[in-house]
Amino acid sequence: MANERDDGKKLGFGFMRLPLTDPNDPGSVDVKKVNEMVDAYIDAGFNYFDTSWIYHNFKSESFVKECVVDRYSRDRLQISSKMPIKFIKGATWEKVDEVFKHQLESCGVEFWDTYLMHGINRASYEVAKKIGTFEYMNEKVKEGIIGRFGASTHDDPEFLDMMLTEHPEIEFVYLQVNYLDWDNPTINSKGMCDIAHKHGKYILVMEPVKGGLLSKVPPKAEKLMKEYNPDASIASWAIRFAASAPAVDRVMSGMSTMEQVADNIRTMREFQPLNDEEKEIIRKVADIIREDTEIACTHCNYCITRCPKHIPISDFFTLENDFARFEKGHVGGYGGRYQNLCQYHGAKAGDCIACNQCVAVCPQNLPIPDYLKLVSEHFDGWSIEKSHGQGKEVRDKVNA
Ligand code: SF4
Ligand code: SF4
Repeated sequence: MANERDDGKKLGFGFMRLPLTDPNDPGSVDVKKVNEMVDAYIDAGFNYFDTSWIYHNFKSESFVKECVVDRYSRDRLQISSKMPIKFIKGATWEKVDEVFKHQLESCGVEFWDTYLMHGINRASYEVAKKIGTFEYMNEKVKEGIIGRFGASTHDDPEFLDMMLTEHPEIEFVYLQVNYLDWDNPTINSKGMCDIAHKHGKYILVMEPVKGGLLSKVPPKAEKLMKEYNPDASIASWAIRFAASAPAVDRVMSGMSTMEQVADNIRTMREFQPLNDEEKEIIRKVADIIREDTEIACTHCNYCITRCPKHIPISDFFTLENDFARFEKGHVGGYGGRYQNLCQYHGAKAGDCIACNQCVAVCPQNLPIPDYLKLVSEHFDGWSIEKSHGQGKEVRDKVNA
């Protein structure tokens, strides 16, 4: 039987951005560090672990087994994973069954406390319905192998409304909620939360810190936050914003360091919703960040699983964002970093053939090939002299 929800504790541990021994290999998880982070998180009274089939080069679930399930009594834990319909080529009922059983074995569990449809959108929803995925999940709920059945999605409110109307058995939704995307017309966190609320579903939050973007804000924004509360970390503002949203049951954080674990514990153990003054500061901070960030990539790396050219898309986008800041006056060795990435992955931005397979799975709806053109303009054939001022024309076109 699934373990009961520990209401009042709103922090989940996402096994998506674990510390690595080799920063270029997402499968090289540093088990010793993760064990220490898990111990600190559990010692603080939390117990919810979220994983998926695709995280960390398809190895995340086995790290949940190694670092959590094999080290703690199962009845103390809540373990959650997801059915990756949109990542299974030629999905069938048999493949769903195969993946589901494989996931249980990888995690070393006999049941899931919660289990979700992963990143479901209009296209994968149609496939899921056609091959009987919802009937399969309902059966697993009846058998007690799934405690609570939910769905994660980055699609739009209209789709979410339709899915929750057609499938009221979905007990909860897992949504991207952060202060930068609250009113963002592409992500529309607020609109998605409103629909979940309308259907009486509770919400789990993903990307509260937007892939780390909201833990390192521009200096002007940081000044506003620190003047108001010098003791609060920058990331804690984002975590509190997400946890303060109506119907939010739990905020999932993909923690990468012990410092992040300690900071999140501090924020969530004695959770305080944002007051009106803090909300106003966050509104101003969001405006400042929007002016400063070129490519709103969250480093989920879904795109890389689809790219026939094995282009390290999110790493290139991080580099491009840093470079955009460099052009505004900061210094860095971006060309060298780019060349290292190309050598390691055996691919450069200019290798993109614009097949759009990555775009189909990007939860942020980014025009990836256009941005790669921009990266290529800046860095393919890079030299320090050439890097200054190039690519502005392409960037302006993409951002128009
Ligand atoms: S559009 Fe480019 S980056 Fe995207 S999957 Fe195709 S080759 Fe890879
Ligand atoms: S480009 Fe999109 S899919 Fe790829 S890592 Fe960034 S947000 Fe994720």
